[in-house]
Amino acid sequence: MSYFKIQEVSKSYTAQPALHPISISLNRGDFLSIVGESGSGKSTLLRIMAGLEEQDSGKVFLEGMEILSPKHKVVAGYPEIKLIYQDFHLFPNSTVAENIARPLLQFDKSYAKQRVELLIQMLGLQPFRDRFPRELSGGQKQKVAIANGLSVEPEVLLLDEPFGSLDTIQKQRLIVDLKATLEEMGTTVVFVTHDLDDALRLTDNLLILQKGKVVQEGNSRHLCEYPKSKYIAQLFSSINSISKEENTFIRPSDVKLRTANGLLAHVEDLRFLVHFNSLQIRIKESGELWEVDDPQRKYQKGDRVYLTWDEGRVMTLK
Ligand code: ADP
Ligand code: MG
Repeated sequence: MSYFKIQEVSKSYTAQPALHPISISLNRGDFLSIVGESGSGKSTLLRIMAGLEEQDSGKVFLEGMEILSPKHKVVAGYPEIKLIYQDFHLFPNSTVAENIARPLLQFDKSYAKQRVELLIQMLGLQPFRDRFPRELSGGQKQKVAIANGLSVEPEVLLLDEPFGSLDTIQKQRLIVDLKATLEEMGTTVVFVTHDLDDALRLTDNLLILQKGKVVQEGNSRHLCEYPKSKYIAQLFSSINSISKEENTFIRPSDVKLRTANGLLAHVEDLRFLVHFNSLQIRIKESGELWEVDDPQRKYQKGDRVYLTWDEGRVMTLK
């Protein structure tokens, strides 16, 4: 029996369903990243998982215990399942340390103190421990909200795009630190985001949500190599159209550049990126504009190039 189970859960606020029936099954300690654009139903799904929103049909179970929605329960939600939102709910008149300690009031004092210190260290909040929320930046507030969510060591942590107000470097560091801490605690984690890069930093276990439906799930490498649709393929990188009739595509990193023998094209433009030059290439025969990576930074604007690729890298997509 799986540990955290979402069974055929669906929800409509209006005539248009926000969630078509969705099933997810996680073992204890599993990490799952759910990726979907804005409006795809991510927040709705997490609120139902936490018992904070009533579903139209389906059930949620944690270790065999049914998670009830607020309508069927006196106090909404469950202490075992913690949902962390993008808009942090902090107590304005409590300091950072007090905000983090708040869920620990019923706990042994020395344990609470130790736990607060650990979280302050982990999230790099030492310099701000005595400040009030109004004296913090958005990113700092978000870290306090995350620390607050972790203080009682929840069994299941649900993260609803909680890194929105952090800059890229802060965000990447925080995700890596969080991952290590959560793995150590054995927490089961569901992270929803519109950003595939963020999702992959936490785990390679992916579920792609589009318009309230699961369109593909599995290991990130498999999804990248065998995407079921153009939409999924394009989450990982842009794609170049080989043949419109046959719906065949190739990724910029899978095209090889040659000085002879191949599909004739010209370099129209190039951008210097960290790991390669990204070339804009006009295909002579079709007139199509392609994006191709040039990791050796060999080609210049105006160059004539010949393109080849392994047939095994060609994707047929609808
Ligand atoms: P996401 O988190 O992926 O952006 P949401 O779960 O917030 O998606 O929303 C999914 C759909 O449900 C959207 O079309 C949104 O407008 C709608 N929706 C969400 N919450 C409500 C609500 N309380 N009342 C009416 N419609 C809602
Ligand atoms: Mg949302």
